[in-house]
Amino acid sequence: MAILLTEWSIRGAADPRTFDRGRDVFESGSIRRILVEGETVTATVAGARPYRVRLRLTDGGLEGVCDCPQGQDEVFCKHCVATALAWMRGMRSSIVDAHAVLPDLSELRQAIRLPDPWHAYSYFERVNAVLDRLAGSGDADAVADLVEHARLLLIEASEARDEEDSGFTAAVTRCEEIHLAACLAGSPDPVRLADTVVTRARSLDFEDAAEVVPAYFPALGRAGLARCRELLEAALADLPGGPASVFDSRRYAIAAVLDAAAEHERSAVR
Ligand SMILES: [Zn+2]
Repeated sequence: MAILLTEWSIRGAADPRTFDRGRDVFESGSIRRILVEGETVTATVAGARPYRVRLRLTDGGLEGVCDCPQGQDEVFCKHCVATALAWMRGMRSSIVDAHAVLPDLSELRQAIRLPDPWHAYSYFERVNAVLDRLAGSGDADAVADLVEHARLLLIEASEARDEEDSGFTAAVTRCEEIHLAACLAGSPDPVRLADTVVTRARSLDFEDAAEVVPAYFPALGRAGLARCRELLEAALADLPGGPASVFDSRRYAIAAVLDAAAEHERSAVR
């Protein structure tokens, strides 16, 4: 069963004023956590207090429940609208398949393998379709593993193509977004996650590390954070010395992440 989730079906579920208010809630970034499982989605929406929303796509349309006062009166409230918009945007293809299953590794390889002859458009369409399935899954821990594989496969594929293609950059960025969201939603192994994140930062010569790595701190916990610092300190020690070397920017970037880690630990203790 494949049902289409469109803005039309969301408008059909809510009155026009509520739709507009829900769109404001969505655009203000109030969706805290969203979990998609087939044709059902649950989310937490920030407001006067966190509201719990559950939506279901049925043959009859979109159904929603929320624990806010309006939701208690069985109204499709603004939190339901906001969640539906987030769901629609996250799914990208707008198609919600009740029997969607996660792609496995061989499917990922198949989708990301370079085609011959090369048609960038159909290639990235295929890649995005497989990433849609990862982004739409509720199995956060499995998604985190798979999407990291997808990212590495994409980098391999882009290196095999001699010419630059911004499609690869966009797809790799999307993998990183899906990975971070899955790590924050799930319960990844903290030490393994620290290894993954620092290895990634290292492969990029720690460029942007001060922005990328700290985003994972909430998912790392105490053990992961300790591992992260250990790896970063080792990376710092590995840098060739000497005055004003070309490695200075790398040194500053690593030091900035270590500072952020120390700050995170302090605030977590408070
Ligand atoms: Zn509500």
